[in-house]
Amino acid sequence: MVTVEVDPVRVETRLVAGEICCPACDTGVLARWGWARSRRVAPTGEPVRPRRARCRGCGVTHVLLPVTLLLRRAYAAQVIWAALQHRAAGLGHRRVATRLGAVATTVRGWLRRAGGRLEVVRAEFVRLAVTAGVDVTVPKTAGSGWKDMLAAVEWAAAVVGDRFAELGMVTPAELVVAASGGRLLAPDCPAESEQGCPNTSCP
Ligand SMILES: [Zn+2]
Repeated sequence: MVTVEVDPVRVETRLVAGEICCPACDTGVLARWGWARSRRVAPTGEPVRPRRARCRGCGVTHVLLPVTLLLRRAYAAQVIWAALQHRAAGLGHRRVATRLGAVATTVRGWLRRAGGRLEVVRAEFVRLAVTAGVDVTVPKTAGSGWKDMLAAVEWAAAVVGDRFAELGMVTPAELVVAASGGRLLAPDCPAESEQGCPNTSCP
């Protein structure tokens, strides 16, 4: 799985030009290889059909997932991020779901998974920010696992935005998707095993 920018024209251009590196072998580049199954993305409900690509070197195929999506989640990353923010502010899953117009059981699933990984995710993004930044100062903890986790991701997004200005503005939601390979909230995600490179399509 490779995260890419949202603009499909640019993704196609980079594939043809051999500009997207293979995360499996680190030496080959990816070429177009059909399409993955389309999925509907809330809140707009627009179907998104991710590109599939194959490494010209090792032959492994990858799904190129737009950075705004979390793997196997039918909601945009921004919506999930907003749910985590509401939770950190003290709302329960039902009220969060009402505010976001999402299904309560779905929201409960996001909050449970994220809630079980607060410290792992926090530590991962602190490490990412320290790696990406120059002379960074680690933010003080707020004494709340949720707030500390969100603060670490926001801080890392700001550091990465400074360091990699050519990427444009990096939102915390985009960074969570890019740095965790889209798997922050996936059922089988050990977030701690992921290397945090903000631009996962190329080293
Ligand atoms: Zn490869």
